[in-house]
Amino acid sequence: MLKTTASNERPASHLFYQSRLRRPLVDRAEGIYLWDQDGRRVIDGSSGAMVVNIGHGNRNVLEAMKRQMDRVTFAYRLHFENEPAEDLARRAAEKLPEGMDKIFFVSGGSEAVESCLKLARQWAVATGQNERWKVISRFPSYHGGTLGALAVTGYAALSDPFSPMMREMPKVPAPTAYLDRDNLSMEQRGIKYADMLEDGIQSEGPDSVLAFIMEPIGGASTGALVAPDSYYRRIREICDKYGILLIHDEVMSGAGRTGKFLGGDHWDCKPDLIALSKGFASGYCPLGAMAAPSRLVQPVLDAGGFQHGFTYAGNPLACAAGLAVLDEIDRLGLIDNAAAMGDALKAELVALSERFPFIGDVRGKGLLLAAEFVSDRETMKPLPRELNAHQRVVDLAYERGLIIYSRRTRGGVEGDHFLVCPPMIITREQIGEIVAILGDVLEQLAAELNLPVNR
Ligand code: PLP
Repeated sequence: MLKTTASNERPASHLFYQSRLRRPLVDRAEGIYLWDQDGRRVIDGSSGAMVVNIGHGNRNVLEAMKRQMDRVTFAYRLHFENEPAEDLARRAAEKLPEGMDKIFFVSGGSEAVESCLKLARQWAVATGQNERWKVISRFPSYHGGTLGALAVTGYAALSDPFSPMMREMPKVPAPTAYLDRDNLSMEQRGIKYADMLEDGIQSEGPDSVLAFIMEPIGGASTGALVAPDSYYRRIREICDKYGILLIHDEVMSGAGRTGKFLGGDHWDCKPDLIALSKGFASGYCPLGAMAAPSRLVQPVLDAGGFQHGFTYAGNPLACAAGLAVLDEIDRLGLIDNAAAMGDALKAELVALSERFPFIGDVRGKGLLLAAEFVSDRETMKPLPRELNAHQRVVDLAYERGLIIYSRRTRGGVEGDHFLVCPPMIITREQIGEIVAILGDVLEQLAAELNLPVNR
């Protein structure tokens, strides 16, 4: 057994940590909790990075993985087909919008996005539309760390160092309608933002545009951004008008987190391609997928095949984990629970925003929820950058045994927000636990940063 080492006695590490901040060594995890090697318990209020949707240590998933491990853990896809991949593709297709009948497995979110971009392009080439290659995306947004996914990511700090090495794709503003102070209704603002895509298509040259990629419900880059309903409908209309493929990046919003299987299922706006990962295997194994309709896949196969793939694609162990995760989501009714607990948690966050007026907006769906800090609710002006509120709120929560996720998005939209996205197994009582800690955290933050509190 691994010898446990108290956090303060740890030797210098050879691991390449991306942050100077060292965190304790994790020891074990169960349900919504994690324990470090000093025996301290923390609530996983962000499901890792919005990954562990079904919670930690699920026995049925672990048993399914063990059974698969005893049979075979790797067989290369050019040598064998495997049953877990076949079964998972069938189960996933049943849950996806009608016609999304081809599933291409990968090992993570960036690979899923890359696969969508490359299938879209190969489809265009195979169907005689060689001039179409531009993929418009939104600013801010996050679609992954590999160079193709980064080229469609709207997050300057992440992409700037690499811009000479890639062909950055055009961006249109993300639909931050909640920030607008005009006389338009929310529905009118939705149309206004969607029409910015049409402007973008026009200025790029409609014949050169291949696809538009968006997160139906934003992730960390925007803090669970939800557009007005009119936006989704209009985006679909614009894509149809110009023959442009609509790609939904459901890496974070998919697999039930928002109270429906897909974030996009909240609207009538069927995409042409879907990227899935994170909650799809809930962190039990690295797994992602592209879902595509046969009408896009077949021309590519007929033209000689998809010139793309990864060694671990369709890995039997990862697919067995994914299949067991879908079983657990159904057996435990987790999508309904995410909807109900999400409503309860959102109401609690709104209540906190009444006590702490520096919370200017609470948004999201299901258990993909965020709260944004402002210095003035009327103008929605952000807090000064130097207060570093987004990092401080995470640190204060961590000290009190709660993990949350936060960002101060740089570029298009400035503003500190934090996300509260616990596993979908959460109970009403555990939400109370999270909210009590958040109340203390926000009190402390207000005291430290001299922010107003309503008493
Ligand atoms: N797309 C979205 C919306 C994401 O939130 C993420 C990761 O946070 C990715 C893509 C990239 O996924 P991965 O880190 O698994 O490559």
